Amino acid sequence: MKKENSGLVIIARQEHGISRTLMSPNALRTLYRLRDNGFVGYLVGGCVRDLLLGREPKDFDVVTNATPNEVKRIFRNCRLIGRRFRLAHLHYQDEIIEVATFRSLAADVPEPGPKEANQAGQSQRPPRTLKDDDGMILRDNVYGTPAEDALRRDFTVNALAYNIDDFSIIDYTGGLADLNAGIIRTIGDPVVRFQEDPVRMLRAVRFAAQLAFTIEEGTRTALVAAADTIVRAAPARLYEEMLKIFFSGEAAKCCELLRQTGLFAALFPQFSGWLDVESEGFPHTRFGEMLTCVDDRIQQGAKVSAPLLLALLFGEYIDEKTERFRRQGAPWQRSVDAAVAEFMGETCPIVMIMNRVGNALCSIISQQTRLNKIPGRRPEAFIARRDFDDIIEYCRITRGGNKEVARQLDWWTAQAQQQAPLPMPCKLTENGEAPQRKKRRRRRRKPTAKSRTEGL
Ligand code: ATP
Ligand code: MG
Repeated sequence: MKKENSGLVIIARQEHGISRTLMSPNALRTLYRLRDNGFVGYLVGGCVRDLLLGREPKDFDVVTNATPNEVKRIFRNCRLIGRRFRLAHLHYQDEIIEVATFRSLAADVPEPGPKEANQAGQSQRPPRTLKDDDGMILRDNVYGTPAEDALRRDFTVNALAYNIDDFSIIDYTGGLADLNAGIIRTIGDPVVRFQEDPVRMLRAVRFAAQLAFTIEEGTRTALVAAADTIVRAAPARLYEEMLKIFFSGEAAKCCELLRQTGLFAALFPQFSGWLDVESEGFPHTRFGEMLTCVDDRIQQGAKVSAPLLLALLFGEYIDEKTERFRRQGAPWQRSVDAAVAEFMGETCPIVMIMNRVGNALCSIISQQTRLNKIPGRRPEAFIARRDFDDIIEYCRITRGGNKEVARQLDWWTAQAQQQAPLPMPCKLTENGEAPQRKKRRRRRRKPTAKSRTEGL
């Protein structure tokens, strides 16, 4: 191990346990190609952390000193993406490798000078780095050195790099020591780092739960103090991050930490308030049970769709709302619609659940009554529904313990097995959805003399 004055630690090939056989061949191909073209290429972030922990990385990220355009010139399979961060995506047969150019800390970079302003006094190009009044980074796209690139990352354990040139590990932030001690620690002042990007608080919780690490004391204190500011993050991003938490395989642990730190109450204020009180003398225990159930499935490698996940977690809450509308005299379907609409109205301003997912969640809940009708009208059409499996699964998980319900489920499952799959109207896309129909273009008619005069 070599330690430099700057705090940089280099761990030589023979001193760490990372073997290239554990890496994605495509990531390796990418690194070698960059090196052979005279560029620096590192593996960075989560994959180095996971390889050191003996876990299988979810994805392999590469950083380089080549600019996105230079990457594009070297790799034919490259597509440049992103407005906020310009990134190169290398498309291999079954994998996309993300290649980013070393970036620097946004705070260190001055806003564009007068030279970049046009005559009207406005900037010709949007500033490459931008923070709002509260210090949140709105844009940062400034190239930097490998050291700067490490320092702008979120946690020390996420800032380790693997250098393809000599197979060493590069550690600018003390990440290796934290990894060995099982600690999640922000790089730099946690107050500032959570101000710059509140989503980092959710990431701290997820990594702590997923890796069975503890959040370092200073980081935790800053997180608890800033928990309320999580609502400043973009709602769509919070939804993505919440899905990562719920699908992490450690959702129960994550939610416990989210509740302890005040993040959960900030993200789901109404639902969290409801969880804390009893209904008719009973505490709301289903949420916790469902988290464990989802964790079990994910750990066994099963897939859970987003609508089914939300139905399982928020179903009891939505059922109570539905009951309220029923008591007011609304029919079943309308009551469920109103309950889901109310839930979406409360949740979406902070955590943006897409309408498509909200509608699918609504139908999983409202179709539960169809399962009681055996065979009912056109059972084959019901079985052919795209969400039939989710409807069945929701019933099995929430009410499958009841003998009568179990009997009904057996009947439906047997019918579904007998029923030959209906001819597909079209090939489904990878995520099981029907591809968007191409719009047929209408040929424009040549304007006639008459339509021209009438202004048509
Ligand atoms: P996993 O993919 O297993 O969830 P990860 O650490 O790889 O974990 P990614 O979201 O893939 O997480 O991000 C890759 C790397 O980018 C991180 O390891 C971290 O270094 C950096 N990073 C991601 N999000 C942020 C952020 N909000 N702030 C600073 N750095 C970030
Ligand atoms: Mg990753």
